[in-house]
Amino acid sequence: MAAAARAKQCGAGRVILMDRDRELGGILNQCIHNGFGLQLLSQELTGPEYAEHFISEARDAGVETMLDTMVLEVTQSKQIVAVNRDEGLMRIDAKAIVLAMGARERNRGGVIIPGMRPAGVFTAGAAQRFVNMEGYMPGKRIVVLGSGDIGLIMARRLTWEGAKVEAVLEILPFPSGLTRNIVQCLNDQGIPLYLSHTVVDIHGEERVRGVTVARVDSNLRPIPGTEWDIECDTLLLSVGLIPENELTQDVGGELDHVTGGPVVTDEMETSTPGIFACGNVVHIHDLVDNVTREAWTAGEGAARLVAGQQPGGDTVRTRAGDGIRYVVPHVLHLDNLASRDVRLFMRATRPAERVQVEAVVGGEVVFSKFERVVRPAEMVMLTIPAGKVSPGKMGPGKAGPNRAGLNTVSPNCADGGPQPELVVRITPRDRDSAAEGGEKA
Ligand SMILES: Cc1cc2nc3c(=O)[nH]c(=O)nc-3n(C[C@H](O)[C@H](O)[C@H](O)COP(=O)(O)OP(=O)(O)OC[C@H]3O[C@@H](n4cnc5c(N)ncnc54)[C@H](O)[C@@H]3O)c2cc1C
Repeated sequence: MAAAARAKQCGAGRVILMDRDRELGGILNQCIHNGFGLQLLSQELTGPEYAEHFISEARDAGVETMLDTMVLEVTQSKQIVAVNRDEGLMRIDAKAIVLAMGARERNRGGVIIPGMRPAGVFTAGAAQRFVNMEGYMPGKRIVVLGSGDIGLIMARRLTWEGAKVEAVLEILPFPSGLTRNIVQCLNDQGIPLYLSHTVVDIHGEERVRGVTVARVDSNLRPIPGTEWDIECDTLLLSVGLIPENELTQDVGGELDHVTGGPVVTDEMETSTPGIFACGNVVHIHDLVDNVTREAWTAGEGAARLVAGQQPGGDTVRTRAGDGIRYVVPHVLHLDNLASRDVRLFMRATRPAERVQVEAVVGGEVVFSKFERVVRPAEMVMLTIPAGKVSPGKMGPGKAGPNRAGLNTVSPNCADGGPQPELVVRITPRDRDSAAEGGEKA
């Protein structure tokens, strides 16, 4: 919605928003808890309220919507094949396409838990939809596997709705959800969190009767002799989201194997020219504000493409260095780096305190930022101010070609020279080097 509104506001001409659902808003509609929009709108909204803000914005901008419309295929030539009850099968030729299909939950098959297949095993998001939108309770005594945000929020919701949440189990030695959700959803409700624990068996034939849990070692393998049973009638799985990228794969663009989403430029353009992407389809977000930020960039990028005003010139790849699991976007235009602030999103590999997040080009730190705490569960953002990276810093003739060359090697590098890259890394803070909380160049 944010991408569509922004594209339209930036003069993209006719903008159509297609969704297979019967209403706009995506996952926000089932997130009736508050905590949305704190950064961008300076308000604490529920998911549907946050969605409403952008539904209005899209409508006011003149975006056309097609609901109950399933997109079946997107082609490299930017044709969309979609179907709905009114129009039947349709083909639409677009000048630019923004993919924003979100993510789906990893289910029991994704985590391989032995045992029978009784009723009562749900993903946390499915349970959320049952409780918040359909008015059904999934069970009365609940165990949650995984400390992702959806599981934490559902532990609290089910407690408020009268269920007993026996435990939340997390296989990693640290929580996967936001700190505020650990505090508000577990600590405040008196729900125990067991770190380095997993479910090793599910009991029951017709309906879940209980689970066996065990402590895991540093290789995440259950430690024999540490098992114990918890009686419950429901097991909720909150074990991760997977970007919904079947359409992206059809287009044939380059994928990032860490995020599971497409490789994108700082315009949020995929490696297929004219096809953009934003939100959970690119990488899994914990804050909707960042989804919206990315969507604005994608909308602006699509409008620029339609107007024939895309940045030209050379590009540089980003790379995750020490302490970083991945960085998005993957490709930066030197023109953009020179003329505007460029935002990078990344995740830390492990929790750390008092660190510098550094952007490094050719061994030189071009920009860095102090972070008091970084955690894998919380997205880190680094905004490189305009002009910090100039073609000169890349060395003569080192930068790669324009967007169309995302998958190719620069002519300048074809002789085996190094591909230019901007490495982002986390280093322990040198206490004496800069004022606490400041950013240094
Ligand atoms: C349960 C949960 C709780 C969260 N809680 C918070 C919170 O408290 N605070 C916060 O800031 N953030 C929260 N987030 C994060 C944030 O809300 C989401 O990351 C964000 O809303 C995702 O937006 P999206 O547009 O990428 O995807 P989605 O909202 O999933 O939207 C994708 C849309 O694409 C449509 N679609 C997919 N495939 C097709 C197709 N082939 N054809 C047509 N349509 C298709 C779907 O119907 C859907 O409407 C939460 C996320 C979840 C999942």
